[in-house]
Amino acid sequence: MLNHNFKKKFGQNFLSDKNLLTSIIQDANVGKDDDVLEIGAGGGSLTEILSQYARSVVSYEIDTDLKDHLFSLGLKNTTFRFADIMKCDIQDIESDFKGGYRVVANLPYYITTPIIFKFLTQSTKVKSLTIMVQKEVAERIVSACGSKDYGVLSVMVGFYGQAKISRYVSRKMFYPQPNVDSAVVHIEVENKHPDIDRDKFYSFIQSCFSMRRKILRNNLTHALKIKGDTLDSLFSLETLAKRAESFSLDDFIDVFNKIKDYID
Ligand code: SAH
Repeated sequence: MLNHNFKKKFGQNFLSDKNLLTSIIQDANVGKDDDVLEIGAGGGSLTEILSQYARSVVSYEIDTDLKDHLFSLGLKNTTFRFADIMKCDIQDIESDFKGGYRVVANLPYYITTPIIFKFLTQSTKVKSLTIMVQKEVAERIVSACGSKDYGVLSVMVGFYGQAKISRYVSRKMFYPQPNVDSAVVHIEVENKHPDIDRDKFYSFIQSCFSMRRKILRNNLTHALKIKGDTLDSLFSLETLAKRAESFSLDDFIDVFNKIKDYID
């Protein structure tokens, strides 16, 4: 057993149950033709099983105290990178992969959403993301329009791919035990809207939800500085009076396509 001084600042909550670890890898659809990027190797429990299922694994870990232990595992098709993944350029990360790759991660909760955004918005090679997230975040990711959990995260994940909750994981499965329950979210990335400017669409969606209780007209005039007259000429009163939470992804795309030339 690894003798390790667990660090709260790195969000270290390790998994050891082999059945659960294997199930996460199955949730990720990892097979012998897959190259995998793992984020947050920790004690290497997930890395070890990944290395048996995948063709190759590149695993990032921020805590250099884990170096000796991870190297001692002697995993043949695995490369460890000791760095903060959030500070690495996507080009550098992807230079380890010839083609597409799958991300699998049990990470600290405070970086799960930034990680999902980083890979969805910047990568052109990622095939899927299978990530342990706080249960509430998982529910936000997969929620549909009209639900109270529906927001920027749900729309943007839907824009880039298909998300589902593969399994719920009790806090009891981790050591040390966190004070929240978790879920594994699997996002199969599909390049569904190659013709839409990613950055512009993201800022448009953020603006639509900037004041949740306000109608679309107010959010577009305040956050995007689009003139009321312009909006009136493009949309019906009914559309402008709706709240962001009632727009499906396709509704947002329709609105975006009409006003994109007015967004800076
Ligand atoms: N995957 C392991 C460890 C999970 S704990 C398991 O399931 O048992 C999360 C791990 O992510 C910790 O080892 C922590 O040090 C690492 N980590 C935290 N922030 C990171 C970052 N920004 N970049 C890379 N690794 C990080």
